Amino acid sequence: MSGILVVCEHEQGSFKKTAGELLGKAVELARALGTTVSAAVVGDVAADALGGWGAQQVYQVAGDFSSYSGTRTAAALHAIATAAAPDVILAPASYAGKDALPRLVARLGSGLGTECTDLRVDGGVVVGRRPLYAGKAFADVRVTRGVAVFSVRANSFPVPAMGTGRAPVQTVACTSVDPVVVVERKAAEHKTADLTEAERIVSGGRSLKSAESFDAVVRPLAATLGATVGASRAAVDAGYAHHDEQVGQTGKTVNPTLYIALGISGAIQHLAGMRTSRVIVAVNKDASAPIFEHATYGVVGDLFEVAPKLAAAVARLG
Ligand SMILES: Cc1cc2nc3c(=O)[nH]c(=O)nc-3n(C[C@H](O)[C@H](O)[C@H](O)COP(=O)(O)OP(=O)(O)OC[C@H]3O[C@@H](n4cnc5c(N)ncnc54)[C@H](O)[C@@H]3O)c2cc1C
Repeated sequence: MSGILVVCEHEQGSFKKTAGELLGKAVELARALGTTVSAAVVGDVAADALGGWGAQQVYQVAGDFSSYSGTRTAAALHAIATAAAPDVILAPASYAGKDALPRLVARLGSGLGTECTDLRVDGGVVVGRRPLYAGKAFADVRVTRGVAVFSVRANSFPVPAMGTGRAPVQTVACTSVDPVVVVERKAAEHKTADLTEAERIVSGGRSLKSAESFDAVVRPLAATLGATVGASRAAVDAGYAHHDEQVGQTGKTVNPTLYIALGISGAIQHLAGMRTSRVIVAVNKDASAPIFEHATYGVVGDLFEVAPKLAAAVARLG
């Protein structure tokens, strides 16, 4: 089988929404190319339902992969790629996408377009579009040798409604010996929803002045909107927010539909992590703050007044 192979990640028995996003896009690309769509699944999970998102065939390496290992995951993906022999592989730009995918591509001897935010067919091949220089420019990436592999940021495409179709599942053997032995797993003291996959984010900056006011202003607005909390590095360094909430060059790269920046100046290192957000709302009392150059909507005002009013207005909408 050739065609487009989509790496479908899952957690606690359910597929992540990136699986739906990428399968939906793959169906569109495959239609333009006149080719097929299949799914790659690593680990134990019922996978035939991926047919409802358009996969015509599922290739699965069974086993417990809940303790992540780049070596094992790359070996499993390589076994699947060998069985499926695709022309194109699409995968999420998740931590596994960042770690296991380059190892896979090295084994395939092909090329990788990373962190794409769009994909299209041009001249009979898939071309990936990815931001460069903290989102100041975009590059169109073509892979000129072997299987074209692209990693794609979450929230780049809509998730199609899941149909009732079922796809046949082919089990693929993979007997990789992992040099890493997991001795113990400890849950993070502070567990947040994954920022990189969040559809809505409310972030706070240094202007929050204390952890108490960050908790009193940023978190309630996020909760009202069903959003995940983010922060600037200044807020994290000052101890107002947790390290895993940092957005930016040395934090997480996010791509939500809605990004609300409360009292964040818009430094280039912060923009690097959130510039591709679809709608950016900035609240800042300085009308000349650089964040306004990138905001879809801007409120010049005091966040301590604006954020509670916004939360109350959203709550009224139900
Ligand atoms: C190598 C390197 C890597 C970095 N990586 C990151 C990174 O990953 N992420 C990141 O965020 N930064 C990063 N930085 C830091 C970055 O340069 C900025 O210092 C930081 O983003 C500033 O955070 P801030 O916007 O919260 O604070 P400030 O720049 O101090 O801005 C505060 C803003 O709040 C506004 N304000 C103040 N009070 C109020 C109020 N009551 N209501 C409304 N607005 C108000 C002010 O007008 C101002 O615009 C990095 C820097 C370096 C050198």
